[in-house]
Amino acid sequence: MRFDDSKIEEIKSRVDIVELAGEYLTLKKAGRNYLGLCPFHQEKTPSFTVNREKQIFYCFGCGEGGNAITLLMKIAGMSFPEAIRHLAEKTGVILPARAVGRGGDKDEQRDGIVGINLKAAQWFAGNLSSPEGRAARDYLQARSLTEEISRQFRLGYAPDRWRSLADYLERSGISLKLAEEAGLVVAARDEGFYDRFRSRLIFPIENVFGEVIAFGGRILGPGEPKYLNSPESSVYTKGKNLYGLNRAREAIREEGFCLIVEGYFDVISLWNAGIRNTVATLGTALTREHLDLLRRYTQDVVALFDPDEAGRRALDRALELFLAANMRARALVLPDDSDPDEFVRKYGKEKMTDLIAAAPAISDYYIDNVLGDGKTFEENRDLLKTAMEFLAKIGNGLERNLFIKRISEKLGIDQALLKKEAHRKTSRARPAQGRPVKATQTDRSALEVNLIRLMLEYPQNILLVENEDVLDYFLDEPLKDLGAKMIQTYKLLGFIDLHVLLPTDADKPLKDMIYKLSIEAPPTDESMVERNFADNIRRIKEKWYREKKRLLQHQLRQAQEEGNQDMIRELTVQKLDLMRQEKQLQ
Ligand SMILES: [Zn+2]
Repeated sequence: MRFDDSKIEEIKSRVDIVELAGEYLTLKKAGRNYLGLCPFHQEKTPSFTVNREKQIFYCFGCGEGGNAITLLMKIAGMSFPEAIRHLAEKTGVILPARAVGRGGDKDEQRDGIVGINLKAAQWFAGNLSSPEGRAARDYLQARSLTEEISRQFRLGYAPDRWRSLADYLERSGISLKLAEEAGLVVAARDEGFYDRFRSRLIFPIENVFGEVIAFGGRILGPGEPKYLNSPESSVYTKGKNLYGLNRAREAIREEGFCLIVEGYFDVISLWNAGIRNTVATLGTALTREHLDLLRRYTQDVVALFDPDEAGRRALDRALELFLAANMRARALVLPDDSDPDEFVRKYGKEKMTDLIAAAPAISDYYIDNVLGDGKTFEENRDLLKTAMEFLAKIGNGLERNLFIKRISEKLGIDQALLKKEAHRKTSRARPAQGRPVKATQTDRSALEVNLIRLMLEYPQNILLVENEDVLDYFLDEPLKDLGAKMIQTYKLLGFIDLHVLLPTDADKPLKDMIYKLSIEAPPTDESMVERNFADNIRRIKEKWYREKKRLLQHQLRQAQEEGNQDMIRELTVQKLDLMRQEKQLQ
């Protein structure tokens, strides 16, 4: 992989990691750092730390750390070149076409699909406003959706023909093979391809960056299925995207919570009514990935459920996910079987916001409506069993006790008994929550790690390290190698990126340790930087001499015990030499 390195440095100097992180999570200023809930592990008190001066992040909970590029890679699942390209666009740095260093076929295919999707979305949108799109426009109008809304959500129309998009793409010189990978066309049995979406209102599905990654189509007129989605591709995985999130982010932050609904029309209709903090799961059940995505923006969620049997099962599952993710969730059930689209059109925004405001905590809803009340002994026993399973899912002890109290009231069972039973069950069955906190201090030399840290933060002083030959005095081989690579890269490129120098998983503990130290280090007075370097270098050397002398002393004792006179002489010379060198040091 090749990048234009000076461009990377330019990007790094222009990007602001606090702003970047702020797009994915909510940060609060705390002293010289910014703090937020970590997107990489589950926590209730923020330990995800972002530092503006150093342009790095580090989580004291799970030990993830890095710079703006690494953050983007981790938080958005991008590859290194993808992250570079994304940040280049953001910071207005222009990358020469070839210099970006494509990550190979996979990246190229991804770009190809996103490109075709955009082209198709534009073509679908054009159809919507053409004479052919009349029926689709009428349909939207009947739902009180304006042209403005159609434009905002990039709605489109797929004509009622077998080959119209396919023809259009072919005319534009686009490979239909790639269109097939994007899920836009389907290979015909004999030969050629036909359009997947026909006679449908088209909803482009975008990721958080607004790239079109898939499509949904609602049939106009009779036919099955009512809703058709793109198949999975290298850019689209079911259950990993939330429809509307890219538009809803701002409103989610403003409102402090997110409303989760099911379909396209719910999101668009609510948006139209002025309720903009809404996303849709698009037919799939709520997944852990959905919540991982959402948690970056808010911990508070209102989820819509149907009061029917399927809705109850969905609620059951969602409750478990919310509890495991430590999110505060409330359950919204609309009256008379209506969906949000119908409801908001019929009763308006205010009635809808009232209902949302009054939505009970999902666990309360569960206890009241799902646990229900048993009449017979058998019913009560079954309820108790369900309640026990429910209690076992609650990781937080305080919360669990609260539920035990409520359930004991509901089922008329002694609290102490319930507590004992729940404790027995949870202590046995509950999996560990999140990742364990890693031991950050191994037997690495703190002095050596600290010098590496200084080199990273003040690369302009890196030549001091070289001139002093201090790496020769490193006792930790991996750190010595890293230091050498840093000097080399700095001389070659004029900057250092830890991620480029330590790209493998095996390097991760070392990398994280350096970031941790960097976040923890007090800000250095600029005039003291050189002095800090010099102190650190001197102490590393002193330590090295101490260690060498200790070793020699040990060998000498051994030689004396063995009565090996030659060896004694040899070692004594070495020792004197060493002491002389050490004296020169001071
Ligand atoms: Zn973390």
